[in-house]
Amino acid sequence: MTRTTCPYCGVGCGVSVADGVPRGDAAHPANFGKLCSKGTALGETLALPGRLVAPTLHGRAASWDEALDFIAARFLRIRADHGPDAIAFYVSGQFLTEDYYAANKLMKGFIGAANIDTNSRLCMASSVAGHVRAFGEDVVPGCYEDLEEADLVIQVGSNMAWCHPVLYQRLMAAREKRGTRIVNIDPRRTATAETADLHLAIASGGDAMLWSGLLAFLAEQDLLDRDWTATHVSGLEESIAAARAAAPSAAFVAAATGLRHQDVIRFYEMFARTERVVTLYSQGVNQSAAGTDKVNAILNCHLATARIGRPGMGPFSLTGQPNAMGGREVGGLANQLAAHMGFSPVEIDRVRRFWRSPAVAANPGLKAVDLFEAVGDGRVKAVWIAATNPADSMPRAAAVREALKKCPLVIVADAWSTDTTALAHVVLPAAGWAEKDGTVTNSERRISRQRAFRAAPGQARPDWWMFAEVARRMGWGDAFAWRGPAGIFREHAALSAFENDGARVFDLGGLTDIDDAAYDALAPLQWPVPRHGSPGPRLFGRGGFPTPDGRARMLALSPRMAASAGDFPLTLNTGRTRDQWHTMTRTGRVARLMAHAGVPTLTLHPQDAAACAATHGALVRVESRHGALVTRAAIDDSVRPGDVFATMHWTDQFSSSGPIDRLVHALTDPVSGQPDLKGTPVRVSAVAECWRGTLLRLDGDDPALGPSAWWAKAPLENGFSFELAGWIALAEEIHAEGKLRKLLQIPADAELLTYSDPRKAIFRYAGIVRGRLAACLFLGPPGADLTGIVLARPLLGRELPAAERVTLLAGVSVTGAAPAGRMVCACFSVSEDRIIAAIRDNGLDSPARIGAALKAGTNCGSCLPEINRLIGAQAPSVVS
Ligand code: SF4
Repeated sequence: MTRTTCPYCGVGCGVSVADGVPRGDAAHPANFGKLCSKGTALGETLALPGRLVAPTLHGRAASWDEALDFIAARFLRIRADHGPDAIAFYVSGQFLTEDYYAANKLMKGFIGAANIDTNSRLCMASSVAGHVRAFGEDVVPGCYEDLEEADLVIQVGSNMAWCHPVLYQRLMAAREKRGTRIVNIDPRRTATAETADLHLAIASGGDAMLWSGLLAFLAEQDLLDRDWTATHVSGLEESIAAARAAAPSAAFVAAATGLRHQDVIRFYEMFARTERVVTLYSQGVNQSAAGTDKVNAILNCHLATARIGRPGMGPFSLTGQPNAMGGREVGGLANQLAAHMGFSPVEIDRVRRFWRSPAVAANPGLKAVDLFEAVGDGRVKAVWIAATNPADSMPRAAAVREALKKCPLVIVADAWSTDTTALAHVVLPAAGWAEKDGTVTNSERRISRQRAFRAAPGQARPDWWMFAEVARRMGWGDAFAWRGPAGIFREHAALSAFENDGARVFDLGGLTDIDDAAYDALAPLQWPVPRHGSPGPRLFGRGGFPTPDGRARMLALSPRMAASAGDFPLTLNTGRTRDQWHTMTRTGRVARLMAHAGVPTLTLHPQDAAACAATHGALVRVESRHGALVTRAAIDDSVRPGDVFATMHWTDQFSSSGPIDRLVHALTDPVSGQPDLKGTPVRVSAVAECWRGTLLRLDGDDPALGPSAWWAKAPLENGFSFELAGWIALAEEIHAEGKLRKLLQIPADAELLTYSDPRKAIFRYAGIVRGRLAACLFLGPPGADLTGIVLARPLLGRELPAAERVTLLAGVSVTGAAPAGRMVCACFSVSEDRIIAAIRDNGLDSPARIGAALKAGTNCGSCLPEINRLIGAQAPSVVS
């Protein structure tokens, strides 16, 4: 058995792999054996189709030597001609700490610029900046047990039921035992909000105002911890004065943030009257043009009441990615040097001496948005992108693509081909999750080993090795002569402890001498790990902040609500869905994960939908100042009037809608540089649909329907399903044999079964190749029910029984098999139809009873809010 760590979110669940099958690791202190739907499906992401297995240079196969020599020679030439700042790295929270360390050392210590940034900039840079401003260092003070020991948990901008599911289930289990009350602050009524005792559907951007109001309220009620703050905090009075000026009363806050006065008061009272309070926050706070102020507004309230670093209390930033925290440790952000050190002359000199490097970067480098702007305007002439897909995930994604097209040298290292690898001059095949060794650090500062349990395919290699090999070829081999990740980890630990007299909390001095065997066996542990003693899992309960005077700093903040943007009256919020990860390079290949939300949608409030005549399930056009796309409308009141929501996952590989980030503006937080991914002004209009269709096919290639049609692709166990629609009448020739065969991807000699009813505009086709069903296409008018095609799904790629051949195009089954609907429980593949039938026909009226009958919701529990919603929706019929 191999013990490793899940590669998705910042919960950092332990995984044990036996006989190639990943399961939850019962011994891991983050998850105690639980995995969510994504983690449960890890084994299904390991198949090789689509993997990059050999380097390519200008589109042709190349050897590693050829590719690495080429990169090193070009880097040396560019550095000599244009200086070190003309080279940039854009890396990833999917990196292991050892990958990060090697990349950071090469860029900042030897190339001599600080132009290395990570996609974690898009995820939690505002929390980093907030921590540094308040604590003096980027430190999460609490641990997961605090969620279980709290009496009040406040979730701010966090849909943890979907984005950190296993931790959410730990909270739910604790609530069962101790009656923990939960407040959820989120403009959307998410699955997480639905289970809260109080949901504050705050106007977008209102968090700092709400928390400033809380500080003013606590001061007014004389509920601050004056003794503790007198010893451990500075800036209290200035912060209170600023809070009073910005948010003078609960009534003012309620009016400004769109909340009910009594709800604001209730929240303030709950915080004020409960000592054990944990405030969890994530992307809804961070991904904002005022993200750092929002973080500090939360930290202010915890510092002012000494609710920090003690059991069951503290502010708690949830990181999005598995190793965003590890990247922060090594200096993967352009504004950090290394090991929680910055760019002061003393720190630069210290790191230079430790690395024995010729030229340590003297200044912070370009943050992600600025970095790609510099690529676009020619300041950066070579960029190395690794384990991330900025062509889809960066704001103004179309501009990023244009920048990469103009860049003289684009290197992309990845395990899978993406919309970014398509723009690269050099593609390097990276080892994937199952094949890499190293460490990751989760949201509670817990370092866990990721261990390989199978060989990398083809010529794929770990990222740290690629950076070390390029460094060697640039003439710095001695400084990069590691034999494996253990050596890198030792060096990383030693740097954290180097001349560290306790001024830096991040300290792995106790691991500096770890040998290879001990590194291999390393059990999960939380930092700091100093050479002598350990402060334990919680920090700052007794003060001791890593600032010159040892005090935390409260910030005087002046929050303001954003004004509406004229021609673009709606606010686009982007985020995750339950079963997908990032740009779907892995989770998008798993049929059961894609079955939960199989097409991209834009969620609109019914009022806004009515205003633009959009209807549920029909097409809408979404437009910002940066681009437009067509997608399907989902109309419900989970969003506030004036807000729309789209998931961040879709790409050109999965839908003609492409990435929503094409529309997202590049506004950033002035302190953290984190993009405002949740506040783009947009407008929405209905698209008059002329036809729609569903296509089943063995091949997943773009159906190439042209610019007046929309499509979205989802994998099946045995092929692919495409949803299709168009806003110009289908030309006659689509029904012509040649076109049809191209769309169905069947050869000229394949048998074509046809059913047509031109009067009703209904057409159905099936392609049979050597007796097997190779494709099936149902076309109809707008609103047509095409669900009968799901009966063809199990037959795709299989020999077509004579009886099914007769009924296939009728959309009915001779076996009487019912079509499977949307997937609710991805862990046990339980569809919505089955759950509704169980509620309706068997009177199952609780998640526990449904779990006992169908197993749905009994593993990770991510689907429990949806099961509860289905029970609620069916309640009248159950009673009757
Ligand atoms: S909660 Fe899910 S995605 Fe996150 S680490 Fe655990 S299993 Fe992986």
